[in-house]
Amino acid sequence: MEIRASCPIPAGSEICIQYVRPNSGTLVRRAILSKKWFFDCACARCADPAECGSRLSGIVCPSPRCGEAALPERPLDARTDWLCAGCGRRVAHRAVGDMLVDATNAMEQEDEEEDTVAKYEKWIYDHAKILLPSHYLMIEVSYLAIE
Ligand SMILES: [Zn+2]
Ligand SMILES: [Zn+2]
Repeated sequence: MEIRASCPIPAGSEICIQYVRPNSGTLVRRAILSKKWFFDCACARCADPAECGSRLSGIVCPSPRCGEAALPERPLDARTDWLCAGCGRRVAHRAVGDMLVDATNAMEQEDEEEDTVAKYEKWIYDHAKILLPSHYLMIEVSYLAIE
């Protein structure tokens, strides 16, 4: 077996490997890491509300006329609220969780719609009001639509 680094590694630095697929939000990744690998990840990405600029967990602030991004306030806390950087509004952990469950159910729902591309496009249109374009569910459904 041969392992190659994708960037220069300074002497003495910690070498990290990827345990889970990178394309879900911090709370989902950390839950998998905790359950399957028995550790609470606190890497730079997990500790950053914006996940190194990807904003994979970002939702649209629900305040009227705000429309800014709300991100997990304390991403290393599994019960964190989301916080809007624009107006300071807090969205409760449970409300975000319910929103994501509903969104996932709507995505997986079997219906009489024959055209799956149209179904996914409608899902993206409907959920653009509550999820940032960078949210991992938006990216996942966009992939499904072009598959
Ligand atoms: Zn991490
Ligand atoms: Zn706001």
